Amino acid sequence: VQIRILGAAAGGAFPQWNCSCANCARLRQGRFSGQARSQTQLAVSADARDWFLFNASPDLRYQLEAFPPLHPQATRHTPIAGIVLTCAEVDAALGLLLLREFQPITVYCTESVRRVLVEDNTLFQVLYRQPGQVTFINIVPGAAFDLGTSGLRVTSVSTAGGHPGFVPKARADHLSPDEAVLGFVLEHRDHRAAFFPNLSRVQPDWLALFQTCDVVLVDGTFWSDDELIRTHNTAKKAREMGHLPVEESIASLTDLRGRKIFIHINNTNPILDEDSPEHAKLRNAGWEVAYDGMKIIL
Ligand SMILES: [Zn+2]
Repeated sequence: VQIRILGAAAGGAFPQWNCSCANCARLRQGRFSGQARSQTQLAVSADARDWFLFNASPDLRYQLEAFPPLHPQATRHTPIAGIVLTCAEVDAALGLLLLREFQPITVYCTESVRRVLVEDNTLFQVLYRQPGQVTFINIVPGAAFDLGTSGLRVTSVSTAGGHPGFVPKARADHLSPDEAVLGFVLEHRDHRAAFFPNLSRVQPDWLALFQTCDVVLVDGTFWSDDELIRTHNTAKKAREMGHLPVEESIASLTDLRGRKIFIHINNTNPILDEDSPEHAKLRNAGWEVAYDGMKIIL
């Protein structure tokens, strides 16, 4: 199984268009020890022919062009066999709109995510312009499902996050909270990988799952709980936004036997700076920081 990280940043990417925090400013000035990153996006294949996307990021058009195995082999062809969504947030789902052009696509997501995207936004009707253009396959939180005939099996885990802030409260009240944000464990024969870009806490059963994996890709949004309060003054704490801070994850996620990688990294996070003490601390604890183009073989 190949996992290619096409994007490793949180929403807004790095640098973010309207941000001049220490990281974004120094990157633009060429004074930063680290690289730019696009928004979190994975591509996974068991046979190097059919690929499954995990999330559909707003940077998807550029990300597909940057990875030749995802280029079409003919007119109106794509090696993309399906798209699996963790949630309905803009940075996880906007890319679906970039996969229009009358191309049949298969999308795996929860019923709540489908309703938020398709029933509440007329823009998503671009995916319905011809019969059979989009096929939604319902993910039931906690249940396992197969990705087509690829031999890849996915177990979904509800991570108890909230529906996106843009969903009106009256609507959110009628959606299942369990269907808002998912993490996934991918399995192929005896290989396993976890993808939890949104992790609000560490439950014992999730930790037990991670301990069975050859690689874990987990929420690296913020280093500390008050990171945005320090850089942006008025913002919320990391935990309030559904993100366990990296410094706490390092302490809580123990006895993992596989590779440990942080993904979904916000542009304010000091771990992006390879000269920072936070980056050194994470490396010393055996963790890696995901970057665009990172390749993982299981
Ligand atoms: Zn910034």
